[in-house]
Amino acid sequence: MTDRKTISAINPATGQIIREIEETQLERIPGIYEDSRAAFKSWSALTVKERLRYFKKLRHLMAEKIDAITEIISSDTGKVRMEAAVADVMPVLDAILHMEKHAEKILGRQKMSTPILFFGKKSYVEYMARGSVLVISPWNYPLQLAMVPMLSALAGGNTVVLKPSEVTPLVGQLVEALFKEAGFPEHVVQVAHGGKEVGAELTKHRPDYIFFTGSVRTGKIIQEIAAKDLIPTTLELGGKDPMIVFSDANIDRAVKGAVWGSFTNSGQVCMSAERLYVQRPIFERFVAKMRDEVRMLSQGSGMNHDIGSMTYPEQITVVREQVLDALEKGAKLVTGEHPDKWDTEKGLFIEPIILTEVTDDMKIVHEESFGPIIPVIPFDTEEEAVELANGTIYGLNASVFSRDIAKAERVVSKLVTGNAVVNDVMVSVVNHGLPFGGAKQSGLGSYHGDGGLRMFCQEKAVMTDSG
Ligand code: ADP
Repeated sequence: MTDRKTISAINPATGQIIREIEETQLERIPGIYEDSRAAFKSWSALTVKERLRYFKKLRHLMAEKIDAITEIISSDTGKVRMEAAVADVMPVLDAILHMEKHAEKILGRQKMSTPILFFGKKSYVEYMARGSVLVISPWNYPLQLAMVPMLSALAGGNTVVLKPSEVTPLVGQLVEALFKEAGFPEHVVQVAHGGKEVGAELTKHRPDYIFFTGSVRTGKIIQEIAAKDLIPTTLELGGKDPMIVFSDANIDRAVKGAVWGSFTNSGQVCMSAERLYVQRPIFERFVAKMRDEVRMLSQGSGMNHDIGSMTYPEQITVVREQVLDALEKGAKLVTGEHPDKWDTEKGLFIEPIILTEVTDDMKIVHEESFGPIIPVIPFDTEEEAVELANGTIYGLNASVFSRDIAKAERVVSKLVTGNAVVNDVMVSVVNHGLPFGGAKQSGLGSYHGDGGLRMFCQEKAVMTDSG
């Protein structure tokens, strides 16, 4: 018998090991897909309405247990409980509600008008479940980024195999338990626990769709494997998201937006502000106000703080290298401590860092940080702002602050990005019906909205003649 591997669930805010979680053995993976395909037969035969009954039960269950759920997320990630509730649990409840209201219509038969040339034939499009969908999820919003794609796939009649991040294994177990307790039929949802070895093995057994959220590096590996069998994929990857603040903006609002956008969830958000471009006439005033605002933030674990700890120790190394590189090349620390003073022994806490005197040769301008750090860079003209914002391999989110809405929307039109916001930072609410996805190396495809449900199904065009 092979040795059973385990993953340690560690609370990053305290360094405490909470429990050991058994990894799924690689030799079990073919059986997982067999079970998934067997369950697909009956799950796909249900109507959307019948499937949604399970969704409603799940929603009620999650609402009832919201306290316990946020506590698990908080101890698995180090984020404060408010962040867990608002940005992890609520989007899932929101998505379920959206599907309960709209999935039947979105996934139902769509009648098309048929030209007279086809003398009376009827035509329509229907959405056919694909089979067994593999969802691979990350650690930054471990509940939302696992459950929303899972539910979108399930609504269309697919079964799901989830590989949650090994960095947040408690939430992986939580997702498994929630679907079970809500009464989803056996094997409709299965969870394989483990790290990249388990994830890689799962991609090699021909799932019918792969939905991946994570790094660009892993996204490319997955796309290469998927290409061999033309397995459809959605890749939700990283970002180096610009925020542009014009002199005519409401400065107080833009400052608060910048602080929240840069430091919420300790900056471990793919849509967080990662580069802040401020028009020169207001630059000094903006930085001073931002510094004052940051100094009022409280950091700690649990309920009564604004920012929690970082989640993943390796991420601290990335942020440290970027800060040291910037300081060496002449950047100035406006807030936060020099990396030599960081003490992450008892918890992965890093004070929010604002950097100025930033130049284009610094890593912080081009590499994703995924940490509580923001470079603030001056610009002069609209054209320059657009050029700077677009000067990246990424294109996930962008925000523009100005009281001149026509100008802000004109700038948005020129930004190469999957998502953009005027006078706010990130708006990704499932219930809006807006699609969410990245341009350039930030991803492939998008989800949420009508397309987010339909993409997990094969679109089938049908023409019928009465004969
Ligand atoms: P991060 O470094 O930010 O955690 P990753 O892309 O490494 O981002 O991880 C995101 C998810 O992808 C995690 O669940 C991880 O276990 C999984 N993963 C990592 N490498 C692979 C791989 N080669 N094949 C499949 N899944 C992988």
